[in-house]
Amino acid sequence: MTQSITPRVEINLAKIAHNAAKLVEIYGSKNIEIMGVTKTVCGSPEIANILLDQGIRMLADSKLVNLKKMRDAGIKANFVLLRAPALSEIDSVIKNADISINTELFVIKKLSEAALQYNTVQKIILMIEMGDLREGIMPANLETFIQEVLTLQGIEIVGIGVNFACFGGVKPSKQKMNDFSKLASRVEAKFSLPLSYVSGGNSANYNWFMTSESVGKVNNLRLGESIYLGRETLNRMAIPELYTDAFTFVTEIIESKTKPSIPYGEIGQNAFGVFPKFRDRGQISRIIIGVGSQDVMVAGLIPTLDIDILGSSSDHTVFDAKKSNLMVGDEVTFNLNYGALLSIMTSPYVYKKYSNII
Ligand SMILES: *Cc1c(COP(=O)(O)O)cnc(C)c1O
Repeated sequence: MTQSITPRVEINLAKIAHNAAKLVEIYGSKNIEIMGVTKTVCGSPEIANILLDQGIRMLADSKLVNLKKMRDAGIKANFVLLRAPALSEIDSVIKNADISINTELFVIKKLSEAALQYNTVQKIILMIEMGDLREGIMPANLETFIQEVLTLQGIEIVGIGVNFACFGGVKPSKQKMNDFSKLASRVEAKFSLPLSYVSGGNSANYNWFMTSESVGKVNNLRLGESIYLGRETLNRMAIPELYTDAFTFVTEIIESKTKPSIPYGEIGQNAFGVFPKFRDRGQISRIIIGVGSQDVMVAGLIPTLDIDILGSSSDHTVFDAKKSNLMVGDEVTFNLNYGALLSIMTSPYVYKKYSNII
């Protein structure tokens, strides 16, 4: 029997292309351009190319190494650094990011110095804090902040951005989105500074978009999850006509036995420092796959068969196999949530298998 490599993630580029094209069309209907977020897929050049084929012109990643990887692969796009840079990254920002998002004046001063040194201009998008409490300049401080930035050479403010539903779970409500638009108008008027990018959020903005007649000044969104997993992210509802299964994780059974349902012996901590609890259901059929927490965020795996995850250690995940009748060597497949997708795409232990037919 020839067996394929496991663990592997099967990546359906045709489904990703379909999702990207649909989202470009949906958001384009109200003149919103999409940045294709590549951090979700570890800056995969294969996937980046698919996004560009669908009319996406900007690729955004939080990791400079991913931007460099895509550049080195010959990909031509507008590359955006999606996470405010660290001081230790300044040189690499200038070399690898056409645009970076920023929130700290001291960092922007260093970018300015480096830009002058390299005889270039660094374009920046200023992130505004509007409640989710991750990165962002407080709105009350924005105008003085911009005043300072405008005195710096080698720096061009090309937009403002806001992010919701990432850290605090705060929704991009109509009120907040209106406030953000007003802020954009005020900045443009006060500083005679046209903002090419008024970037209103991420995959969590879908419901706001669908239920708003006007999107105000917002002309850009940064999308990852809805392209790859076909979902909005406030309620994780599938977006109509999009594929939610462009990625499938395939593993292999390394043990299949009937064993007790609860551990026996004196109980101490497990591999991760917790005292695990199990319910006694007598003898059960148990299977083990050869991947664990080192390979994937196990809690984000959704089995396509009726089996239950009992737990995992670094390199093993144990299941109640229920009535599935699975044997050693059988493959076990999973759909993925966001965390599992991130962990799988960044794991060197998971083989990436691309296909291009639906
Ligand atoms: C990750 C990220 C996104 C993309 O979020 P999705 O929910 O995957 O669409 C957008 N903006 C910023 C700043 C991010 O860090």
